[in-house]
Amino acid sequence: MIKIEHLVKNYGSHCAVDDISFEVEAGEIVGLLGPNGAGKSTTMNILTGYLSSTSGKVSVAGIDILGDPIGAKRLIGYLPEQPPLYLDMTVEEYLNFNYELKGCKLDRAKHLADVCETVKIHDVYRKVIRTLSKGYRQRVGIAQALIGNPKVIIFDEPTVGLDPKQIIEIRNLIRGLGKDHTVILSTHILQEVQAVCDRIVIINKGKIVANEKTENITRVVSAGRRLHVKVAGPQRDVLATIKSLQGISYAEALAEREGDAYTYLVESDHGVDIRKKLFFALAERGWAIIGMEALGMSLEDIFISVVDQSEKSKLGQAPARTPRRARAKERALPEEEIGASLYEDAQRQRSEAPPAQEDEE
Ligand code: ADP
Repeated sequence: MIKIEHLVKNYGSHCAVDDISFEVEAGEIVGLLGPNGAGKSTTMNILTGYLSSTSGKVSVAGIDILGDPIGAKRLIGYLPEQPPLYLDMTVEEYLNFNYELKGCKLDRAKHLADVCETVKIHDVYRKVIRTLSKGYRQRVGIAQALIGNPKVIIFDEPTVGLDPKQIIEIRNLIRGLGKDHTVILSTHILQEVQAVCDRIVIINKGKIVANEKTENITRVVSAGRRLHVKVAGPQRDVLATIKSLQGISYAEALAEREGDAYTYLVESDHGVDIRKKLFFALAERGWAIIGMEALGMSLEDIFISVVDQSEKSKLGQAPARTPRRARAKERALPEEEIGASLYEDAQRQRSEAPPAQEDEE
């Protein structure tokens, strides 16, 4: 339904979007995820025809956005980060205005009633937009995007500034829209893509660093990387042996004990499945593994891991261990703060890299 091929956008000498290619199938909900400045809005603005690209090709349902911008835009409903609302209009006036602006040919009364039903704004239909809560304003913004019944709907940071209840409502709404539309949304909140999207495209510094189905991404990135291993044997020696193995980035003994067996948290380097090596190394010393469990990663871990990996591979370094504090924060903080703190963590990691290596980039 949407095809983006080798998209590049330079602002002067700054490359904001750096050779991005991905496709979105009809009926998919795809989340564009990345820190501030990653190039999400630029990509979306090119996709919606608001911005021209430096090079590359974007097509919607086979229509080239540059070749036939009006035809392509007719297929797209767009909710920018700042909804384009006229605050002095009533909802009714605003939706009628948009209906005319888009040259919509559908039966007006029925179509507007359907849109209001979808986004649940009947009860504020005659109210002035200025008097509405942020959540209702966002719904009105979504209603505007739905006018003309476009096949593709694009949301830029759709839940920013909403309270937790409104966030859940808007996410459910977007999920519901995915039944009849192809949806792309951008967000810097990791839980958002997990809650709403079928596929995640992670973008960092203008480049795609991951493009996976949501259900796969945890498995793909974390295969064999974080384990709970239960080993019968002397705790200190077992731990020292585990730590001595090449490919292990972190290991600690946990409090859990069963007879002479202790449980260890073991983390391996990116792309390293340490399980077999661990088995043989411990068996050689006569210590039996009596339990081994691969642990899932949170999306925070995944995000930092893939961004970190792409940064480090550029620098020719071994990747660092996933920061523990991100996981701790995930448990302790409300989700919007997690997003903010996560990115602070990721930024801090980057700023902590030695200057000489940064220069090589
Ligand atoms: P995101 O939406 O992921 O936060 P953007 O697409 O807004 O990222 O920005 C990507 C990069 O391009 C950033 O470094 C930003 O500073 C830069 N940028 C965005 N818009 C402009 C512009 N109009 N002129 C110059 N640089 C821009």
